Amino acid sequence: MIGIFGGTFDPVHLGHIGLASAVHERLHLQKVIFVPLGIPPHRDTPQESPQARVNMLRAAIEPYDYFELSTVEVEKESPSWTAETLSCFAQQLPNETLCLLMGSDAFKPINEWYQWRSLLDYGHIVVVSRVGDDIELSAEVAEFLAQYRVASLPQDSTGGGRILWLETDVVDVSSTRVRQVISEGGELSDLLPQAVEFLIRENGYYGYQ
Ligand code: ATP
Repeated sequence: MIGIFGGTFDPVHLGHIGLASAVHERLHLQKVIFVPLGIPPHRDTPQESPQARVNMLRAAIEPYDYFELSTVEVEKESPSWTAETLSCFAQQLPNETLCLLMGSDAFKPINEWYQWRSLLDYGHIVVVSRVGDDIELSAEVAEFLAQYRVASLPQDSTGGGRILWLETDVVDVSSTRVRQVISEGGELSDLLPQAVEFLIRENGYYGYQ
């Protein structure tokens, strides 16, 4: 099984690495492919360029041989729709089961995503509860979860179609917090992989001085 982990990664932080590592370990994933988005359909334009976000991600995942990076979304000139991206991976990897990784805050508004129900045609969804998230779901999303939720993913299936909710101890950090700490000149070492902190300092990303 292969994990697909999309996000803005503006910048990638220890919460992202923690989430991907926890799911990799718990589900014995072959690998996790990080997919930074280019043009976000549902949120503000990222602060740093796709190239900068890709550079930081590359540096962050470098120590892990089971993490990979895909630039498929940053190379697109149109908004990044997760359903399309997942369908492309499913076509490229017809003999693999995919699972889409996300935090609980990202799952909550999933019914606003383009062709959101079709996500399960291409893989499973694995949701990791995020510290501090109240996890209150709309009726539509709660019903979606109830319909497809399983206690563990079937090992023999290809194609997906299930939702797994995992409780883990992923650190409580967000990219918003990282950007705020940089603007206040605070300490970054508990929030970021060292190599990412180095790149931020070197390149003055996020106005680092
Ligand atoms: P921002 O603060 O700018 O909204 P973010 O920290 O949420 O950014 P994203 O790149 O938007 O980072 O997140 C990508 C994915 O990683 C989402 O599915 C999000 O829920 C998940 N995620 C990010 N940080 C954590 C964390 N600390 N614990 C669990 N999931 C996380």
